[in-house]
Amino acid sequence: MPTGWRPCLLEVEYPLETYDALLASIAPAAGTGRTIFDPATGEAVGDAPIHDLDHLENAVAAAVAAQPAWAALGHEARSAALLKAANAVERSAEELAQLLSREQGKPLNGPNARFEVGACVAWLRATAGLPLEPETLVDDGETRAELHYRPIGVVGAIGPWNWPMMITVWQLAPALRMGNAVVVKPSEYTPLSVLALVKVINEELPEGLLAVVSGDRNVGARLAEHPAVGKVMFTGSTTTGKAIIRSSADTVKRLTLELGGNDAGIVLPDADPQAIAQDIFWGAFINTGQTCAALKRLYVHEDIYDAVCDELTNVAKAMPMGNGLDENNVLGPLQNQAQYDVVANLVEAAKASGARILLGGNPDTDQPGYFYPTTLVADMDNGNPLVAEEQFGPALPIIRYSTIDEAVEKANGLDVGLGASVWSPDLQAARDVAARLQAGTVWINRHGAVDPRIPFGGAKQSGYGVEFGVEGLKALGVPQVING
Ligand code: NAD
Repeated sequence: MPTGWRPCLLEVEYPLETYDALLASIAPAAGTGRTIFDPATGEAVGDAPIHDLDHLENAVAAAVAAQPAWAALGHEARSAALLKAANAVERSAEELAQLLSREQGKPLNGPNARFEVGACVAWLRATAGLPLEPETLVDDGETRAELHYRPIGVVGAIGPWNWPMMITVWQLAPALRMGNAVVVKPSEYTPLSVLALVKVINEELPEGLLAVVSGDRNVGARLAEHPAVGKVMFTGSTTTGKAIIRSSADTVKRLTLELGGNDAGIVLPDADPQAIAQDIFWGAFINTGQTCAALKRLYVHEDIYDAVCDELTNVAKAMPMGNGLDENNVLGPLQNQAQYDVVANLVEAAKASGARILLGGNPDTDQPGYFYPTTLVADMDNGNPLVAEEQFGPALPIIRYSTIDEAVEKANGLDVGLGASVWSPDLQAARDVAARLQAGTVWINRHGAVDPRIPFGGAKQSGYGVEFGVEGLKALGVPQVING
């Protein structure tokens, strides 16, 4: 297991002059920042400013000052600004993807860095285009009641390190569209990506309306309790979500919480193992498994268990993992040592319990970076920690089941419920199983596909509230009834 940074032999050319300019534009004064390292190589990526509680106070004060004029613009003008912001991100897409790849570790290629920047553009555009009209609730001659959604004021956006740009856009786009100002607190692991993204978006927004405070968890905690902040959008672990619920209580803040998951996929006995293997692979291993709504426990009927294991192994073997700047790679390193340790320890525990390793499970400890090989693990109990805990990395447990009731009971057996999936050519049979699963989204014959038009959120301790679609927009407003 890597215990520290080692130099990397790979020489990478950065042909983009604009990449250097973008990085320089977010750099702090010399000697005042914190160096961020590439998880694939250990090389320095750049310096992030160290923002403290005073920076947060200034950002919140500027947001409070800028918000009323922005709210007064109305939906049409705000949507127009979001569309311009989308164009700005599109113009800088390659520089942003390069930075994201170096800081987060995800490859440029595949459903990774370029895909993530593309999603930022798509979500900004889609959010600008969502329809939102006042609703007439009652109009019977005696009573006339209309439902409007008013701006909240200042929204705090606290995010994780796995999809740092995309999740920041998921938070800021609906907040801005609804007439709010936004203060973003990115993960300590990936501040540069978010600073650069917001720098680009801010080319099209008024001063002070959207700020990034590149601070630690204490800055996040203060944002969650700040009296001038009306709502917090949080994506991250369930533990931190609970802390945010507590620190937001005194000011009765609105919250949208997208927390941890441990998504189950159920393969029904009539599924074709070869036909589904590639989609199951990407459902589980997108972003090298570091995805909230990735498939993290695969339940396969005993009749086709061995065939599914074989087909998945064939697909997984063919997926190259390595430095993200090498266009051949579609899988990258874990983002940080702590996450590497989680994955390595869970696989070791599974091995010690007698589970069968189909692929991987043997990290090369001489390789630089936090690379953990693509790992498939068979023949273990549902209570095995690799099944029961969120691994958040490239290690998929495959569990055998005999009856649908057994599979549903096992899938529902945890206290989280973000996503789930059912795999079968019989759509009605799959929908019947889907209806029994305790998860915010159940996909059929795919896993983890999100869409800016379709609400997304968790069941149980995976959080509450939804993002995306008109439902997600409404969550960034205060409902107001005009009665009379
Ligand atoms: P994390 O909870 O450790 O950190 C997330 C953010 O919260 C960081 O910016 C951190 O600085 C901040 N923070 C930490 N303590 C805080 C506090 N007391 N008050 C306010 N802010 C605080 O999460 P992570 O490790 O960065 O991300 C991985 C987790 O996020 C996984 O569990 C994953 O499933 C989850 N996740 C969920 C979704 C979703 O949509 N449901 C999406 C991505 C990730």
